[in-house]
Amino acid sequence: MNATGHDAVRAAVIPGPNRPVEVRTFPRPELEDGAVLLRNLYSEVCGTDLHLQEGRLAETPYPLIPGHANVGVIEELRGDVCDVAGNRLAAGQQVTFLDVHATCGACWFCLVAKATTRCPNRKVYGITYGADDGLMGGWSEYVHLRPGVRIIPLPEGLSPETVIGGGCGLPTALHAVERSDILLGETVLVQGTGPVGLSCVALARLRGAYKIIAIGAPQQRLDAAARMGADLCLDVENTSAEERRAAVLEATSGRGVDTAIEASGNPAAVPEGLDLVRDNGTYTIVGQYTDHGPIELNPHLDINKKHLDVRGVWGIDYSHFHRVLLLQERYNDLFHWERLITHRFGLEEANQALDAVRSGQAIKAVIEPWKR
Ligand SMILES: [Zn+2]
Ligand SMILES: [Zn+2]
Repeated sequence: MNATGHDAVRAAVIPGPNRPVEVRTFPRPELEDGAVLLRNLYSEVCGTDLHLQEGRLAETPYPLIPGHANVGVIEELRGDVCDVAGNRLAAGQQVTFLDVHATCGACWFCLVAKATTRCPNRKVYGITYGADDGLMGGWSEYVHLRPGVRIIPLPEGLSPETVIGGGCGLPTALHAVERSDILLGETVLVQGTGPVGLSCVALARLRGAYKIIAIGAPQQRLDAAARMGADLCLDVENTSAEERRAAVLEATSGRGVDTAIEASGNPAAVPEGLDLVRDNGTYTIVGQYTDHGPIELNPHLDINKKHLDVRGVWGIDYSHFHRVLLLQERYNDLFHWERLITHRFGLEEANQALDAVRSGQAIKAVIEPWKR
């Protein structure tokens, strides 16, 4: 679909798997009752966007406008649209919104299991909505927020840069840290120093960890991990598994960590992490959002005999997203999430943005849809 004239909206589109991103124009959407038109200021470039471009997510509705973490300004709204507290939203407000939409609240997973992130009816902006659904991704000048999208005005004093610096990694990390039940005074290992891992380090610190160990690369991400609160940073590219094991055992009286969180995206991290957790500890896997293949485990030695608690984490719900903004408002002077942004790109530069994330050059890259 192409549009011209002053009502045309520019958006970056992944036409299909393994195809370069291209800028297309779309008509400005007609708002239905309860909908909001967001003038988008920032959209994150996340590892998931790489995977979408590489065709690694099943059932991706190409062509696709990526961008699932976004901050913008309300341009226009139709009817009464309220936040979760019942306050009416207004044009001109700076807001962010939960990418997950249409969780049904009526299926078995929503009602019986209370596991809404596994609701089969949920849709996700920039991931499971395609460009044929409209302006349903954030790499676009405007985003069409359909009725029922959960919108939060930014608390006073919280900048759009801080919110996008936390991006999708921060609520994902919050979910993972809560799933891992870190106790006060525990020693925590975080595998992976991308945006999710870095926020896991920050939240483990808030959670009262005694000592935090991070394994990752490259050096600028390890430096960021140290700033977030990691006491010991191990470079996965310049150490052997044996050296990392020795360092973790030395830091934990020879037992291994109480809790480890996998946020690396590399399947090979899983057996290593299982090995570095102490007996009767907890291992939480959040980094394997896309399928990078199987890995060999020894279920006897790695899990059963160790009496381990192994947990998976899928997605986020509104509660994680809501509380992240409160944490950013309260604790950003400790963590400075906006400093994770190392690269900024316009829509025409979206392929360079993906390259910067793919190469590990960027800690976090953002798209600024209005940048020329
Ligand atoms: Zn993401
Ligand atoms: Zn449901």
